[in-house]
Amino acid sequence: MPKSVLLNDGLTGHYMDILRCPICHNSMQLINKKSLICGDKHCFDLAKQGYVNLLSHGIKTKYNKQLFEARKLLAQSGFFEPLNEQLCELIQRDLNPSEAKSQDCSLKILDAGCGEGSHLANIQQKLGKNTGMRPLGVGMDLAKEGIQLAARDWESIFWCVGDLAQCPFGDRQFDVILNILSPANYSEFERILTDDGLVIKVVPGKEYLTELREIFYEETEKQDYSNVKTVELFENHLTLYKTVPLRYSMTLDQPLIANLVHMTPLTWGADEDRIGRVLKLESLEITIDLTIMVGRKKCSEPEQMEVV
Ligand SMILES: [Zn+2]
Repeated sequence: MPKSVLLNDGLTGHYMDILRCPICHNSMQLINKKSLICGDKHCFDLAKQGYVNLLSHGIKTKYNKQLFEARKLLAQSGFFEPLNEQLCELIQRDLNPSEAKSQDCSLKILDAGCGEGSHLANIQQKLGKNTGMRPLGVGMDLAKEGIQLAARDWESIFWCVGDLAQCPFGDRQFDVILNILSPANYSEFERILTDDGLVIKVVPGKEYLTELREIFYEETEKQDYSNVKTVELFENHLTLYKTVPLRYSMTLDQPLIANLVHMTPLTWGADEDRIGRVLKLESLEITIDLTIMVGRKKCSEPEQMEVV
């Protein structure tokens, strides 16, 4: 029997309202507590680990199990704690009280590109503790290896493998869409966000992991990083009404330094000798420099009809 949160009788209905078939867009039903089936008979089985794969075809990503395990261990050490705290604060402050539907499960949060799920699990717990709300959490990632790790450790969230370009969710379903250090698909975000919902996107700042960048890419153009284009793209699609810079540093020792090296795509293009140098360090002070963008849907102005 799968251990999916979908099988919690009190919650099944909430999730079935959110989901739609990624292929034909019809609504889906849970059959025999083991499969999601749409009106056109597209069928997706719940995995026994507690997630569902909603991809219509297999996709291989560069993100493997080792990377997600390293990221999870780093997250458990508190590496992202100040970020998660800040995200909770933003959600609590920026959602109107009327939207924060206290006791029931109606605050719906999607983590789009959730990886191994640490951010969403942590934020769901914090919000519950701070506000008494029980937010309904949905975590989606293209990489099955991440979702499997997420489902292994957190049973209170609906985890699915899915493609951002064809989100398996109905229109206007989510009050909050989190998109943390991960690619976005803004047309899908606009479609699945409620009219007064929030998109919260986290992008690296200029100094993000700068110490690692200096060792890996000294005197090459990869040493520098700019998020200007990412911010521009966000503003093309959403009304950016708040930008929150967040910067802190952590001193890591082993094996956390190795976990950092294994979790970041920065390592992919780096020279083996330089990677080896970092893996031998006993201690490393590292900068976490992030920009949090909070946006809402653009007001849809009625089109001006020209009368001829
Ligand atoms: Zn279908």
